[in-house]
Amino acid sequence: MTSLTENAVELRGRLSGELIGASDPGYDQARAVFNAMIDRRPDLVARCTCVSDVQQALEWGRAAGAPVVVRGGGHSAPGFGTADGGIVIDLSPMQSVEVDPDRRTARVQGGATWGTVDTATHAHGLATPAGIISTTGVGGLTLGGGHGYLSRKYGLTIDNLVEAEVVLADGRVVTASESAHPDLFWALRGGGGNFGVVTSFTYRLHPVRNVICGPTAWPVSETKNVLSWYRDFLPAQDDDLYGFFAIMTVPPADAFPEAFHLHKACAVVWCYLGDPADADEALAPVRAMQPAFDGIGQAPYPALQSSFDPLYPPGLQSYWRGDFFGAIPDAAVDAHAHFAEQMPTMLSTMHLYPVDGAVNRVPSDATAWAYRDVTYSQVVLGADPDPANADAIKKWAIDYSDATHPHSAGGGYVNFMMDEGQERVQATYRDNYARLARVKAEYDPSNVFHVNQNIRPAT
Ligand SMILES: Cc1cc2nc3c(=O)[nH]c(=O)nc-3n(C[C@H](O)[C@H](O)[C@H](O)COP(=O)(O)OP(=O)(O)OC[C@H]3O[C@@H](n4cnc5c(N)ncnc54)[C@H](O)[C@@H]3O)c2cc1C
Repeated sequence: MTSLTENAVELRGRLSGELIGASDPGYDQARAVFNAMIDRRPDLVARCTCVSDVQQALEWGRAAGAPVVVRGGGHSAPGFGTADGGIVIDLSPMQSVEVDPDRRTARVQGGATWGTVDTATHAHGLATPAGIISTTGVGGLTLGGGHGYLSRKYGLTIDNLVEAEVVLADGRVVTASESAHPDLFWALRGGGGNFGVVTSFTYRLHPVRNVICGPTAWPVSETKNVLSWYRDFLPAQDDDLYGFFAIMTVPPADAFPEAFHLHKACAVVWCYLGDPADADEALAPVRAMQPAFDGIGQAPYPALQSSFDPLYPPGLQSYWRGDFFGAIPDAAVDAHAHFAEQMPTMLSTMHLYPVDGAVNRVPSDATAWAYRDVTYSQVVLGADPDPANADAIKKWAIDYSDATHPHSAGGGYVNFMMDEGQERVQATYRDNYARLARVKAEYDPSNVFHVNQNIRPAT
């Protein structure tokens, strides 16, 4: 293996972006990822500004035999945006968003974050489905599937992907779509960062401007009652109504009455996409459940998309586990009620995100995302700023997830997994795994892109 540091000077000359090594100022900032539990030391971080930078850094990493790491927004909980001794292809300088309001599409560079995208598309009264935190990268979220407030109506993020520009493992640049490199396009839609570096994504957009949204919350002692109602209520509603169920601690923020601050609660965070005049009727059954707190109001869509950002800044210790659920039987409701009472820290939480509606109307083999027949994507997240609490949040997340797992569909959302081994990766892709392995063998036979939820090339 060639020493990275010896050759870094030569690579630096070939990049238009910055190249940061261990002895450079800013190295500690450059190596950090969102999850502060991850403390790894790559040899180099290449801040790529263009496709050519990506090609140069990739070629250099391959020649050196160093782990090639691709970083979009850096939110991966297991820390796939960094690696000891690796070269990080950091796409964060590649943030541009071009909206075509006539075609209702947006072409977004691979290092953009969702806040940038939402702001640009909102200027035209348009949006595409994404996650609930605006600092998340488009790269990792899209390649894993992507679900959020718009998903019951407009599907996953991948269901709105029109094409992707990709730097392949051998350095070639291709555009993948339904008509060009269709196998690659199929694999990119859910298969994670296994198939290349996506330098731009083109998304289909939908008319979304202001939404009726916000939380309703109940005391944690009501969890059994509220969850039993929610699991039956939401799937029966029109796709215009979305609401994710949460176990949480009410933060000491102005948005909540002081009497609730730091109280454990169960909540549903709503987003109504229909005619605002119909919202009260759609939400009447929710209010009939007599929430202790009702924070529903009208907001611009990007405001909803960034409403959780202050609670979950970079630098928290985070540990999470995910599973898909078709139904939530009473035994699972009991487990939720039990672990809700045990929440170890204010930021630890459990979310059940709906993935029915439009998500279910796509066949299971149409994209790499295999679980088109489930209703919820669950994440149990242990989080806290203090490293001293790392063991406690990890234990709670694992014990909680283990208690509900027997009621799950078997696999979990690839973007809600830690580094949990091949069995879990294969469970995520179910019957689609064998095809993914074949596509991997075609586009990345040497497994250059292995710092991810890895799909091994078929032999
Ligand atoms: C607080 C929080 C809330 C979240 N909420 C949601 C949610 O509501 N809905 C949801 O769907 N997900 C959610 N997620 C999960 C999120 O989708 C994943 O963590 C996702 O992988 C983050 O993408 P990233 O680009 O920021 O991360 P990174 O760590 O940069 O990348 C993650 C993976 O994708 C690869 N990758 C990234 N960009 C590219 C690219 N351009 N080309 C090729 N490979 C690339 C990386 O190599 C890595 O393997 C949440 C995450 C966090 C931390």
